[in-house]
Amino acid sequence: MNMNTPFLDLNPDASPTVHTIASLFARHLKERTSLAVGESDAVHNDPSNLNLALRVTPGIGAEGFRIEDVSPGRICITGNDERGLLYGVGKFLRTSQYGPESFVPGSWRGTSVPSLPVRGIYFATHFHNFYHDAPIEQVERYVEDLALWGYNVVNVWFDMHHYSGIDDPEARAMIERLHAILHAANRVGIGAALVVLANEAYATSPIELRADWTAGHDGYTREPGGHYHVELCPSKTGAMELEMKWVEERLAAFGDLKLDALWIWPYDQGGCTCSQCAPWGVNGFLRLAEPIARRYRQVYPEGKVILSTWYFDHFTSGEWAGLEKAFTTRPDWVDYLLADDYGDCFPQYPLEHGAPGGLPMVNFPEISMYACDPWGGYGANPMPQHVQQLWNSSRHVLQGGFPYSEGNYEDINKAICAQLFWQPDRPVEDIVREYASFEYAPEVVEPVLRAVAILEHNLPHARTRLDGAIHLSMQHTEGAELAYDLLRQVDAALTPRARSAWRWRILYLRALIDSELSRGGFEVSPICEDAFEELTALYTAHHALDWIAPPTRSRR
Ligand SMILES: [Zn+2]
Repeated sequence: MNMNTPFLDLNPDASPTVHTIASLFARHLKERTSLAVGESDAVHNDPSNLNLALRVTPGIGAEGFRIEDVSPGRICITGNDERGLLYGVGKFLRTSQYGPESFVPGSWRGTSVPSLPVRGIYFATHFHNFYHDAPIEQVERYVEDLALWGYNVVNVWFDMHHYSGIDDPEARAMIERLHAILHAANRVGIGAALVVLANEAYATSPIELRADWTAGHDGYTREPGGHYHVELCPSKTGAMELEMKWVEERLAAFGDLKLDALWIWPYDQGGCTCSQCAPWGVNGFLRLAEPIARRYRQVYPEGKVILSTWYFDHFTSGEWAGLEKAFTTRPDWVDYLLADDYGDCFPQYPLEHGAPGGLPMVNFPEISMYACDPWGGYGANPMPQHVQQLWNSSRHVLQGGFPYSEGNYEDINKAICAQLFWQPDRPVEDIVREYASFEYAPEVVEPVLRAVAILEHNLPHARTRLDGAIHLSMQHTEGAELAYDLLRQVDAALTPRARSAWRWRILYLRALIDSELSRGGFEVSPICEDAFEELTALYTAHHALDWIAPPTRSRR
C-alpha cells in the first residue's frame, strides 16, 4: 500500500497536546518523503489516500496504544491517554517505510502497553556537551524524538555550585535553558523532573555552614568523590533552613512545569562526613531528604519522590544495611529508590536483600562514558549486549529507570533502554533492528547489526599522555575493517536524507575512525582528523571539555 498523500483525522475537540503529536507525524513525513500531510477536501475525498485517525480513548491500559485498520485506506492509532497516542505514533512511524515522495504505512497492528511505569532519561547539561551548548531547538527536537521511543519523563539538574545565587545572570540563563528542555517534554505530553543534591549549595554558601568532606574519621575511609566543598552540613544551626529556602526558589523557578518527579541525591556531588551526619546516606542525608520530599509533594501532590542510593557504601560502610533499618516500615515520603553503579555490576545489596522498605526501585544505567575516552569521541557507542547484560542482572527488581546521558552519540543505547522499560523481555537485537530500519533503511538492517556487534566489541578506546602529547589507542581492533566495509556499502544504499542525517553520520564515522586508527598504528590520518572535526560539529562540542570532545588536533 503506497499512499501518496496521507491526511490526519483528529477529533474536533482534540487537545493541544494531540495536535502537537500530530505535528510530529507530519514533520517526520515531510522530512523523510518531502510529502506534506494533505489538508484539502480533494485529498480527503480521494480514497487512494491514507486516512490516519488519531484518537484518545481510555481502556487500553496506562500509556498504551492500539493500531488497527478500521476500513480500507483508514488506519486508527488510539492512545489510552495522550502519552499512549504519542507512543503509538512513534511505533507507526518506526514501522513505516519512506522514500522520495513515497510513504508505505507500517504494517504493525495490535495493542501495546508499557510494562514498567518509570521510563525516564537524565540529560547531564554540563561540560559544554550537546545538552549544554547545542542550539536549544536541537535539544528540544531531541526530547521529542526520545518521547516517540517510549520515554515518559526527562530529568535535568540545576547545578547550583556554579552560581552565586538564583539571581546570578548565569544561573538565570541556565534555568532558562533547562526550562526549555523540560517544557519540550511537557509539550508532547510527557513529564519533567528535577534533581537536587540533598545538601547542595551555591558557590557563595556561608563558610560556617559548610559540610565536612574529609575521610579518616567517623567511618569514612575515602573522601566522597566529586564533593564541591560548598555543600552545607545539616547538623549546623541554620543550614536546614537555608537548604529549604533554596528548594523553594528552585520549585518556583520551574513552577509552571508539570514536574512528575524529584530526585534527591546523596553523593557525587554532595554529602557531609562530620560526626553528626555520618554515615551520610542514612543520617544527615535522610534528615534533609524528608522535608525536601514533603515540600515537593505539597506543590505536586501527584509527583513521585525518587531517593537515590548512588555511591552508598563507597566511602563508608553500612549505608545500605542502615537504610533497611531506617525503612523498617515503608516511608510515606519516598516513591522509588534509585540504585545503580558505574561499570559492570548492579549494587549487590538490594539484589541479595531486596529493596529497603519494600520500595520499588529504578536504575540509572550508564550508557555514555563506558570504556571510551573521550566519551563519544570516536562517534556512536552502541552497546546492546552490555545494556542487555546489566538489564538481565537486575530487571527483576526494577520498575524502570533513567539512563545517564552525556550527549546524542549514544542514541542507539537510549532507544534500547526505552524499549526494555516498555517490554523488559524484548531482545535488544530486535530493538536495534527497529532503530536501523527507521533511522537508516529497512534493507540495511542486517549489515548494520553486524557492524554494531563489531563496534561494541571494539568500544574500549584510550587517550594516553606521552612525551607531552596525547596518544590514542584501542584495546581491540578485530573486524574494524569489516565494520567499515559493511557501513560503506550501507552508505551507498541509503537515501540522501538518511545518508546525511546525524544518526547515520555518527555510526558511519565511528567505523571509519576505528578502521583508520587500527590500520595506521593509532596515528590520526587526515581522513580521521576530518571525521573528528565533523563529530565536533554534530555534537556542538567546540567548547566541550576534553573528556567529552572528539580528540581533534587542537586537543592532542
Ligand atoms: Zn555534617
